[in-house]
Formats: sequence, C-alpha cells, structure tokens
Amino acid sequence: MTDLVIIGGGMCGLVLAGLAGESGFRTILLEKTDRVGKKILATGNGRCNLANRDFSIEHFHGSALEQARRVFELYGQDRIEAFWEENGITYLEEDGRCYPRSLQASSVLNVLRRSIDRYEQAGSVKVLTSSPATKIVYDAKKKVYRVTVRTETNTQNILEARNVVLTTGGKASPRLGSAGEGLSIAEHMGIRVTDLRPGLCRLLSKDPMVRRLAGVRIKARVSLICEKEILSSMIDEILFTDDGISGPVVIEQSRLAGDMIEAEKKIRIGIDLCEEISKGELFALLEKRFRSLMDLSAEDALEGFIHKKLIPEVLRISGIDRKENCGKLNRKQLGSLAETLKDIPVTDLSLDSFREAQVTIGGIAGEELGDGLMSRKYPGLFFGGEIVDLDGDCGGYNLMWAVASALWIRDHLPEETTNG
Ligand SMILES: Cc1cc2nc3c(=O)[nH]c(=O)nc-3n(C[C@H](O)[C@H](O)[C@H](O)COP(=O)(O)OP(=O)(O)OC[C@H]3O[C@@H](n4cnc5c(N)ncnc54)[C@H](O)[C@@H]3O)c2cc1C
Repeated sequence: MTDLVIIGGGMCGLVLAGLAGESGFRTILLEKTDRVGKKILATGNGRCNLANRDFSIEHFHGSALEQARRVFELYGQDRIEAFWEENGITYLEEDGRCYPRSLQASSVLNVLRRSIDRYEQAGSVKVLTSSPATKIVYDAKKKVYRVTVRTETNTQNILEARNVVLTTGGKASPRLGSAGEGLSIAEHMGIRVTDLRPGLCRLLSKDPMVRRLAGVRIKARVSLICEKEILSSMIDEILFTDDGISGPVVIEQSRLAGDMIEAEKKIRIGIDLCEEISKGELFALLEKRFRSLMDLSAEDALEGFIHKKLIPEVLRISGIDRKENCGKLNRKQLGSLAETLKDIPVTDLSLDSFREAQVTIGGIAGEELGDGLMSRKYPGLFFGGEIVDLDGDCGGYNLMWAVASALWIRDHLPEETTNG
C-alpha cells in the first residue's frame, strides 16, 4: 500500500511528484511512455513558454472555471514564479511571455527531474516509465484504490493506494503521450467527461487558394469573421500549408473558430496585408504607384509590394487580369484591389485533428470536481492539468494551470496518509 499514485508524468504529474516527496508521501508516479516529460520538451518551440505576465482568469475556458478561479487565487502568477525560482528557473520575458532564462525546455524538465531524484534515492518516490495505468477500482469499505498497470512484459500489476491523481493530459499531440486513456479510465468509473475537441491548432481549409500558397509565410493582420462581423483580430505571422493555415494568429484564434464551427456558423479568415494604412490611404498609394509604373503589367507593378505568390491571388480576387497594363486600370478596379489587399478571404475552414493540437478543449467536467480538484464521487481521487475541462489561451497559460493545479492538489492531499 502506498500513499499516492500519480498517473501521468507530464508537467502536472512531475511537479506534484516532487511536492509529494517533499511532504513525505510515499508516492509512485506512473508514466505510459519510456520517459517522463516528453511534451515539456516540445513546448514553446523547445523554449517552454512557462507563464504569462498578462494573467487573469479571462484567459481560461471550460466547465471547471470556478475551480480554476479558486486555484489561481492561491496559486496565481507570483506563487507560480516563486515555485520556479525555488527550483532554479528564472524567467526571461518576451512580450509578456515567460520562458526559462536558458530558453531551453530541457532545463525545465531537468529541474523537475532533480526535484524528484532526491526522494527517489531516499526510496519515498518511485517513477515507473513504460507503465500505463489501465484501470482504477475503488474499494469503498477499505478506502483503498487499486490501480491496474500494464508492465513492459505485458503482464498486469495492481498497485494499492490511499490517493490517486490522474494527470494524464487530454488527447492533444498523442505522439507525446497523451491519447485520452486517462479520460477513458475516469469514464469507466462513471465520471463525466465533456465533449472533446482540439484546441490551439491549425485551421484546415478546402479553399483551393490555400494549397497554391503552401509555404508562404507573411506577417499580417488576421481576422476571424462571422457573417461580416469581425470576432477577433491580431497581427502576427500566418503560414500557408498544403491543407490549411497555421502560425500564431491562427493558433490563437482557433478556439473561437472552433466555437463558431461547433455552432454551425459560417466563418472565414480575412487577411489584411496593409494593416498600417487605411483603405483610403492604400487607394491613393496604389494610384500613385501604378501611375509611375504605368508601362508594367498589373502583376509586375505589385512585385516588391506584397509576397510574389500572393500577387496572382490578389488580382484574381479583385477581378483584374494579371497581364493588364496597370496604366489602364480604372478607379473601380483600383478600389477593388485596395479592398482585397485589406481583406483576402480564406474560406471553407475546419479544425485540425488532435494529432497536431496543443491542447484539448474539454475533459473531466467541472461538476465532477469538488474542493481541491477532488472527485465528488471518489474521496482521494484527484484530477490535475489538462485532463480537467479547463484550457488556457496560447502564451503560457496551460503550463500555469498544470503547475497551479499540482500545487493546489498537494495542499489538499489528506495529511494522515503520510504515516501509512
Ligand atoms: C507542441 C506543444 C507545444 C505547447 N507549448 C506550450 C507552451 O509553450 N506553453 C503552455 O503553457 N502550454 C503549451 N502547450 C500545452 C501544455 O504543454 C499542456 O497543456 C501541458 O503540458 C499539460 O500538462 P499535463 O501534465 O496536464 O499533461 P501532459 O503533458 O499531456 O502529460 C500527461 C502524461 O501522462 C502520460 N499518460 C497518459 N496516459 C497515461 C496512462 N494511462 N498511464 C500513465 N501515464 C499516462 C502521458 O504519456 C504524458 O506523459 C503545448 C502543447 C504542445 C503539444
């Protein structure tokens, strides 16, 4: 019998394992894959965007928002930063986003590993890799959990524990470990899991223009538009791929896009290539440019003004023949060109799959969680990190939740179990 079994060696599980060791809990951490923290290494393009200075509950979504509010009241950004400082990670801030000063996600994983090592050496914490948990059964009479674990030799072990924490993540980026098994285990226990969908992901598009633009990367104002209403708008890089659009502006707006798609609303993306000037100013600028380049074709006259691959698309959308002598373009055509440059539409959008998504929208329903992120049905069964129906915006918020929920669960583990 052990005090605590943590299922899942991602950010939440690793933080909690170190804290549990420090508090004297005899702990077993089960990790499905051959090493812990694979996803941590992939975060922030290998730099690990740990937190964000622009912090408020508004950056989080899901049915467990009330629980999250309480967690963050105690473990807000100062406490999370203090946790990292205590472990040797100093922030480096870029536009509010906080990274380890080393700009290496591996240093984050290493300090977490080190925070556990000393308790592993003392024998109070065990980390078992290649050990997926497949089932949890609660013996209410004895107040004991039995966790079934599949071993490397494909046999089954049963671990007994007073408390179990599921930190198995959701279904996003399954190659990094989280493929939804933890959610299935919970569902088998009668715990409600909300509908799931990929979050912080690319948008797929069947618009033929997208494929023609594959490989193009530009900085622009990118807006999410629903029936002529601009729902959100941001300036950053957008990247065209064979089957969709990506880049920070798309990833950040994918949640809202997903909400609209789910509600069967017609959405499109609008790309403003000249966000620094108004439509009127752009019209005047084009008029002047085309007058001075009047011997050139419309296509050649736009060279150097916008990305070359975009020129035929912009002219096509504006209804202008590429070969048309630009000196012959009338005011209406110039007006139409200015309009297109301010709003290139990308249509026929859908969400990418879980395969490349950064988070899962949905998870353990908020109504299942009592105080301390403990199950209302099962005393001593906790949920932390992404498995909970709580997702944060892009920019460090999801890792803040993973850490804050681990800190909070540690506070709510019953102390008497430490004596076994
Ligand atoms: C490419 C990418 C980049 C990202 N970048 C950022 C970023 O910069 N900033 C940010 O805030 N967020 C980022 N995120 C999101 C963030 O990484 C996650 O929300 C966070 O790591 C979730 O932590 P977790 O511990 O809850 O779950 P996970 O990190 O998913 O860990 C769950 C662990 O449980 C294991 N597991 C699963 N099932 C079982 C089982 N049955 N038995 C045992 N073990 C099991 C998995 O193998 C995995 O190791 C990124 C995500 C991705 C995919």
